[in-house]
Amino acid sequence: MKRIVLTGCIALAFSLATVAQNRVNPDLVQAGLEAIQAATLTDAQVVAYTREAVKQMDAQNPVAAANDPYTQRLNRIVSRHHTVSGLPINYKVYKVKDVNAFATADGSVRVFKGLMDIMTDQELLAVMGHEIGHVINHDSRDAMKSALQRSAIRDAVSSQSGTLGKLSRSQLGDVADYLVGASFSRKQESEADDYSYDFLKRNGYNVMALATAFEKLDKLSGGGQGGKVASILSTHPDSRTRAERIRVRARRDGLAR
Ligand SMILES: [Zn+2]
Repeated sequence: MKRIVLTGCIALAFSLATVAQNRVNPDLVQAGLEAIQAATLTDAQVVAYTREAVKQMDAQNPVAAANDPYTQRLNRIVSRHHTVSGLPINYKVYKVKDVNAFATADGSVRVFKGLMDIMTDQELLAVMGHEIGHVINHDSRDAMKSALQRSAIRDAVSSQSGTLGKLSRSQLGDVADYLVGASFSRKQESEADDYSYDFLKRNGYNVMALATAFEKLDKLSGGGQGGKVASILSTHPDSRTRAERIRVRARRDGLAR
């Protein structure tokens, strides 16, 4: 049975085993902290570890096949956007009912069937634009770096090696769990919204798609949809406020009445 956890930005989905977190001896924690202070993680390493984590998530979630109608629709929607702000993006659909999408520091975008079922093409672009905004603004990379550093601390504690080598399966689980728990600041969210708005605008889409996407998510979080959206909006609490902010900006730009 696969486990889907919904939290995070729009939300992140992982189906990795939770690792017991109670194996730490305080003296060893200090040793681990010293070890990680000495460790330097380059941006390239963070991206490489991210790619490895995404590969594992892809292996554990139902990825839509190339000839699946959901894949075909997504490919059509993103046909002009395989490179965004200079970053090569790879897209896949997870055929799960949850209303969800995420983007990672290596340029992977994963969109869930449940989100595709309720969003128009341009609303999907707006949501993906927001998620890609976190990547371009390095929010995703910084969150991953924190996760890796934390994992390295645990590794130092358990193995006394203090080094970051190839991540073990359980370490990837650590990283995934931490990333799922990571939430971005209000400022980071506003900046990702602005990124998406600008992305829509410069590509000739309707910027109001970002507002209506948030309004749909807000409606879903208001209940009445069963467990379908779960805690998807737990870290996006102000969908309505954010939608209004976008409407104000669109009116100011003469792009909405
Ligand atoms: Zn966000």
